[in-house]
Amino acid sequence: MLDHLKANNRAWAQRMIAADAGFFRRLEGQQAPEYLWIGCSDSRVPANEIVDLDPGELFVHRNVANLAPPQDANYLSVLQFAVDVLAVKHVLVVGHYGCGGISAAIDGKRRGLVDHWLHPIRETFRDHRAALEAIPDRRARLDRLCELNVIRQVRNVASDVFVQDAWARGQDLCVHGWVYSLHDGLVTDLDVTVSRPDEIERLG
Ligand SMILES: [Zn+2]
Repeated sequence: MLDHLKANNRAWAQRMIAADAGFFRRLEGQQAPEYLWIGCSDSRVPANEIVDLDPGELFVHRNVANLAPPQDANYLSVLQFAVDVLAVKHVLVVGHYGCGGISAAIDGKRRGLVDHWLHPIRETFRDHRAALEAIPDRRARLDRLCELNVIRQVRNVASDVFVQDAWARGQDLCVHGWVYSLHDGLVTDLDVTVSRPDEIERLG
Protein backbone atom coordinates (compact mmCIF):
# COMPACT_ATOMS: atom_id res chain seq x y z
CA MET A 1 0.00 0.00 0.00
CA LEU A 2 1.17 3.52 -0.84
CA ASP A 3 4.46 2.16 -2.13
CA HIS A 4 5.13 5.32 -4.14
CA LEU A 5 5.04 7.40 -0.94
CA LYS A 6 7.41 5.01 0.83
CA ALA A 7 9.76 5.12 -2.17
CA ASN A 8 9.56 8.93 -2.15
CA ASN A 9 10.46 8.89 1.54
CA ARG A 10 13.53 6.66 1.02
CA ALA A 11 14.75 8.86 -1.84
CA TRP A 12 14.16 12.06 0.14
CA ALA A 13 16.07 10.79 3.21
CA GLN A 14 18.95 9.76 0.94
CA ARG A 15 19.05 13.18 -0.71
CA MET A 16 19.10 14.90 2.68
CA ILE A 17 22.00 12.73 3.89
CA ALA A 18 23.86 13.20 0.60
CA ALA A 19 23.65 16.99 1.07
CA ASP A 20 24.47 16.92 4.80
CA ALA A 21 25.62 13.67 6.40
CA GLY A 22 24.84 14.84 9.96
CA PHE A 23 21.42 16.29 9.19
CA PHE A 24 19.14 13.79 10.93
CA ARG A 25 21.57 13.12 13.78
CA ARG A 26 21.63 16.82 14.60
CA LEU A 27 17.84 17.22 14.45
CA GLU A 28 17.32 14.13 16.57
CA GLY A 29 19.14 15.92 19.40
CA GLN A 30 16.73 18.84 19.60
CA GLN A 31 14.55 21.23 17.63
CA ALA A 32 15.17 24.96 17.91
CA PRO A 33 12.87 26.65 15.40
CA GLU A 34 12.62 30.43 15.49
CA TYR A 35 9.20 30.53 13.86
CA LEU A 36 5.70 29.30 14.58
CA TRP A 37 3.56 29.07 11.44
CA ILE A 38 -0.21 29.16 11.86
CA GLY A 39 -1.62 28.41 8.43
CA CYS A 40 -4.47 26.82 6.51
CA SER A 41 -4.75 23.03 6.04
CA ASP A 42 -5.12 23.59 2.28
CA SER A 43 -2.75 21.18 0.45
CA ARG A 44 -1.61 24.02 -1.82
CA VAL A 45 -0.14 26.01 1.07
CA PRO A 46 2.75 23.87 2.39
CA ALA A 47 4.45 25.81 5.17
CA ASN A 48 8.12 24.77 4.90
CA GLU A 49 8.24 24.86 1.10
CA ILE A 50 6.78 28.37 0.81
CA VAL A 51 9.50 29.91 2.96
CA ASP A 52 12.10 27.32 1.87
CA LEU A 53 12.97 26.13 5.37
CA ASP A 54 14.36 22.72 6.32
CA PRO A 55 12.92 20.35 8.91
CA GLY A 56 13.70 21.75 12.35
CA GLU A 57 13.32 25.39 11.33
CA LEU A 58 9.55 25.90 11.42
CA PHE A 59 7.06 24.86 14.12
CA VAL A 60 3.73 24.37 12.36
CA HIS A 61 0.07 24.48 13.26
CA ARG A 62 -2.48 24.20 10.46
CA ASN A 63 -6.27 24.11 10.47
CA VAL A 64 -9.11 25.06 8.15
CA ALA A 65 -8.86 28.80 7.41
CA ASN A 66 -5.83 29.41 9.68
CA LEU A 67 -7.78 30.26 12.80
CA ALA A 68 -6.39 31.00 16.28
CA PRO A 69 -9.55 30.57 18.39
CA PRO A 70 -8.95 31.49 22.06
CA GLN A 71 -10.88 28.38 23.20
CA ASP A 72 -9.19 25.81 20.97
CA ALA A 73 -7.00 23.50 23.09
CA ASN A 74 -5.05 22.21 20.09
CA TYR A 75 -3.99 25.67 18.92
CA LEU A 76 -3.37 26.86 22.51
CA SER A 77 -1.15 23.85 23.26
CA VAL A 78 0.92 24.55 20.15
CA LEU A 79 1.15 28.25 20.98
CA GLN A 80 2.21 27.67 24.58
CA PHE A 81 4.84 25.10 23.63
CA ALA A 82 6.20 27.37 20.89
CA VAL A 83 6.35 30.43 23.14
CA ASP A 84 7.26 28.94 26.54
CA VAL A 85 9.45 25.96 25.61
CA LEU A 86 10.84 26.65 22.13
CA ALA A 87 10.90 30.43 22.69
CA VAL A 88 10.19 31.16 19.03
CA LYS A 89 10.95 34.73 17.98
CA HIS A 90 8.16 35.06 15.43
CA VAL A 91 4.60 33.83 15.06
CA LEU A 92 3.41 33.94 11.46
CA VAL A 93 -0.34 33.85 10.84
CA VAL A 94 -0.54 32.99 7.15
CA GLY A 95 -3.81 33.07 5.24
CA HIS A 96 -4.19 32.53 1.52
CA TYR A 97 -6.29 34.06 -1.21
CA GLY A 98 -8.87 31.69 -2.63
CA CYS A 99 -9.33 29.98 0.76
CA GLY A 100 -12.25 27.52 0.62
CA GLY A 101 -12.82 27.94 4.36
CA ILE A 102 -13.34 31.67 3.96
CA SER A 103 -15.88 31.35 1.14
CA ALA A 104 -17.66 28.45 2.89
CA ALA A 105 -18.06 30.57 6.01
CA ILE A 106 -20.29 33.08 4.28
CA ASP A 107 -22.00 31.26 1.38
CA GLY A 108 -25.02 30.37 3.52
CA LYS A 109 -24.80 26.60 2.85
CA ARG A 110 -24.99 24.09 5.75
CA ARG A 111 -22.04 21.70 6.02
CA GLY A 112 -22.15 20.48 9.62
CA LEU A 113 -19.43 20.75 12.23
CA VAL A 114 -17.24 22.95 10.09
CA ASP A 115 -19.94 25.65 10.22
CA HIS A 116 -19.17 25.98 13.93
CA TRP A 117 -15.43 26.03 13.28
CA LEU A 118 -15.86 28.79 10.69
CA HIS A 119 -18.08 30.91 12.93
CA PRO A 120 -15.29 33.44 13.79
CA ILE A 121 -15.05 34.27 10.07
CA ARG A 122 -18.74 35.14 9.95
CA GLU A 123 -18.15 37.42 12.95
CA THR A 124 -15.28 39.13 11.13
CA PHE A 125 -17.55 39.49 8.10
CA ARG A 126 -20.26 41.10 10.24
CA ASP A 127 -17.76 43.49 11.85
CA HIS A 128 -16.68 44.72 8.41
CA ARG A 129 -19.92 44.17 6.49
CA ALA A 130 -20.26 47.69 5.08
CA ALA A 131 -16.68 47.89 3.78
CA LEU A 132 -16.84 44.35 2.34
CA GLU A 133 -20.20 44.85 0.63
CA ALA A 134 -18.83 48.01 -0.97
CA ILE A 135 -16.39 45.82 -2.95
CA PRO A 136 -18.35 44.94 -6.11
CA ASP A 137 -16.23 42.01 -7.30
CA ARG A 138 -17.02 38.81 -5.37
CA ARG A 139 -13.49 37.44 -5.63
CA ALA A 140 -11.97 40.71 -4.43
CA ARG A 141 -14.44 40.77 -1.54
CA LEU A 142 -13.41 37.25 -0.46
CA ASP A 143 -9.73 38.18 -0.80
CA ARG A 144 -10.29 41.13 1.52
CA LEU A 145 -12.08 38.85 3.99
CA CYS A 146 -9.00 36.54 3.88
CA GLU A 147 -6.88 39.53 4.91
CA LEU A 148 -9.30 40.65 7.63
CA ASN A 149 -9.38 37.10 8.99
CA VAL A 150 -5.57 37.05 9.23
CA ILE A 151 -5.58 40.39 11.04
CA ARG A 152 -8.20 39.08 13.44
CA GLN A 153 -6.10 35.99 14.20
CA VAL A 154 -2.99 38.15 14.72
CA ARG A 155 -5.03 40.01 17.30
CA ASN A 156 -6.07 36.72 18.94
CA VAL A 157 -2.48 35.46 19.15
CA ALA A 158 -1.12 38.77 20.42
CA SER A 159 -3.90 39.02 23.03
CA ASP A 160 -3.31 35.53 24.37
CA VAL A 161 -2.07 35.23 27.94
CA PHE A 162 0.94 33.09 26.90
CA VAL A 163 2.10 35.83 24.55
CA GLN A 164 1.28 38.61 27.00
CA ASP A 165 3.24 36.80 29.75
CA ALA A 166 6.20 36.31 27.39
CA TRP A 167 6.31 40.05 26.68
CA ALA A 168 5.95 40.81 30.42
CA ARG A 169 9.09 38.78 31.14
CA GLY A 170 11.01 40.56 28.37
CA GLN A 171 10.96 37.79 25.75
CA ASP A 172 11.43 38.90 22.11
CA LEU A 173 8.33 37.88 20.19
CA CYS A 174 6.67 39.33 17.09
CA VAL A 175 3.30 38.29 15.67
CA HIS A 176 2.95 38.79 11.92
CA GLY A 177 0.09 38.60 9.43
CA TRP A 178 0.78 37.35 5.91
CA VAL A 179 -1.32 36.24 2.97
CA TYR A 180 -0.12 33.73 0.39
CA SER A 181 -1.14 33.87 -3.25
CA LEU A 182 -1.89 30.54 -4.95
CA HIS A 183 -1.58 32.43 -8.24
CA ASP A 184 2.13 33.28 -8.07
CA GLY A 185 3.47 31.58 -4.92
CA LEU A 186 4.27 34.88 -3.22
CA VAL A 187 3.44 35.99 0.31
CA THR A 188 2.32 39.52 1.11
CA ASP A 189 3.12 40.99 4.52
CA LEU A 190 -0.05 42.76 5.68
CA ASP A 191 2.10 45.03 7.82
CA VAL A 192 0.20 44.29 11.02
CA THR A 193 3.17 43.07 13.04
CA VAL A 194 2.71 43.27 16.80
CA SER A 195 5.80 43.18 19.00
CA ARG A 196 4.45 44.86 22.15
CA PRO A 197 1.08 44.78 23.95
CA ASP A 198 0.27 48.40 23.11
CA GLU A 199 0.53 47.69 19.37
CA ILE A 200 -2.55 45.46 19.40
CA GLU A 201 -4.92 48.43 19.39
CA ARG A 202 -3.70 49.69 16.02
CA LEU A 203 -5.06 46.52 14.41
CA GLY A 204 -8.52 48.09 14.68
ZN1 LIG B 1 -7.59 27.82 3.12
